[in-house]
Amino acid sequence: MKFIKFTVAPLALLCIILACKKTDTSPTNTTSAVVPDVYKKIYGATSITSDGTYITIKSNDLPDHVSAYYNSSNSLYQSFSGTTFNGRTFSKNPNSIASQTLTFKIPLNPVEATTHASTPLGPIGVSLNGVPFFNQYAAMNAPLTNEANGFDQYYGHPQQSGQYHYHVEPLYLTTVKATKSSLLGFLLDGFPVYGPEENGVTVSNSNLDAYHGHKHATADYPNGIYHYHITNTDPYINGSGFYGTAGTVSQ
Ligand SMILES: [Zn+2]
Ligand SMILES: [Zn+2]
Repeated sequence: MKFIKFTVAPLALLCIILACKKTDTSPTNTTSAVVPDVYKKIYGATSITSDGTYITIKSNDLPDHVSAYYNSSNSLYQSFSGTTFNGRTFSKNPNSIASQTLTFKIPLNPVEATTHASTPLGPIGVSLNGVPFFNQYAAMNAPLTNEANGFDQYYGHPQQSGQYHYHVEPLYLTTVKATKSSLLGFLLDGFPVYGPEENGVTVSNSNLDAYHGHKHATADYPNGIYHYHITNTDPYINGSGFYGTAGTVSQ
């Protein structure tokens, strides 16, 4: 039975190596790995798992804050009138928030892509409360100028299927749950998204590259990392495409 001897010995060795590397008590297998703490900041996720290569984040896309777009029977419904993003007069769109499962699969160790793909319409990333980020365009790649009139009291709105999203600063996260200089989520390429301020100073587009980011140490990444910043002028979250290679989102 030479065959058995030759296969069992390396397998046993591998088990010993893996056991030594383990840092928690979760079972060692090929589909689960430790989720780094930084992803646990996505408090609105319904689950966060890792396979060691990708982080998989699931969300039901229900904002944890009041909105004029919840059905009036919902406890988080709150009517809204007056001024929204950048001084616009709020004009409610005909859609209502609907629960839906979004599954974001993002690289655990993001790297710069050699070709920077454009961001698609629809979800381009996930914020801390599980609501997706959208890019700087409305349907048909039209500018947000008119659509932004429909941003609610926390600067989000639902599209036709009820999918709630943020194209600009998620005001509830920057003023209630976190701060204007906090980590606010991740784009699909795995790079983190930060708020509109840094060291007490408002970040402007001129501080950022074509993709709307730059690289330096942050509170969450003391060794430095490329990260996006949200600003209050177009393109708001992302510029000319993903800095890294985007993962996937299924909906
Ligand atoms: Zn929109
Ligand atoms: Zn920065």
